[in-house]
Amino acid sequence: MHTIFSIYFLILGFILGSFYNVVGLRVPEGQSIITPPSHCPSCGRRLTIRDLVPVFSYIFLKGKCRTCGSKISPVYPIIELTTGLLFLFSFLRATSVGAMLAGWLLISLLIIVLVSDLAKMIIPDKVLLWFLPIFILFRVIVPLQPWWDSLLGAASGFLLLAAIALISRGGMGGGDVKLFALIGLFTGTKIVLLGFMLSAFFGAFFGIIAMMLGLVKRRQPIPFAPFIMLGVLTAYFFGEQMISFYLSLLY
Ligand SMILES: [Zn+2]
Repeated sequence: MHTIFSIYFLILGFILGSFYNVVGLRVPEGQSIITPPSHCPSCGRRLTIRDLVPVFSYIFLKGKCRTCGSKISPVYPIIELTTGLLFLFSFLRATSVGAMLAGWLLISLLIIVLVSDLAKMIIPDKVLLWFLPIFILFRVIVPLQPWWDSLLGAASGFLLLAAIALISRGGMGGGDVKLFALIGLFTGTKIVLLGFMLSAFFGAFFGIIAMMLGLVKRRQPIPFAPFIMLGVLTAYFFGEQMISFYLSLLY
């Protein structure tokens, strides 16, 4: 049973990841996510089911459009694969159905934000506004933490990021502030604060390595969303253990 569910949820993640690619690319442009149907950005040919199988189409087509031969961005299959693996991970890691679904919702938000940030360097308000009522409703049905901790989490995420945005003068955008308020609402205070610290740590770490390797120049803006995803999901899935381990060192 376990194996069958694992495969189902991996495939579900592949399919949703494919949809999140579309959402993350079209919403910042103000386009509909339904029409026009997916097409090759070079030759405009409408994609058929053979081109749209998540992960596998890219492999079979060797990363090229079947008609015009232009390169397909590897970001698409990477996003699909990542979503699938994270959905599977949430299933394997969760101790209840509610916790698994909560993980999936958080992963979904972070993946869409990642696609938008990689492609357009923005976190669209529209995406955050869609997730707000879904998160509130989910929290009412599945209260994984007390209601006041959700409010405190939202306030903590907002205030911490707003303070950093003010101090750094544009190093942190308004989108990040709203995103962390939304994450705090969903995860509660401890996890959003730890999630931000880990995001900043991962961002700084990779930033320094990339600079040393000459991949980016000083002051060149790099998308923060990959590190937000890494930091927040690490905090979400391992935060409780990390915090109790840390406290055990103190006492
Ligand atoms: Zn083409």
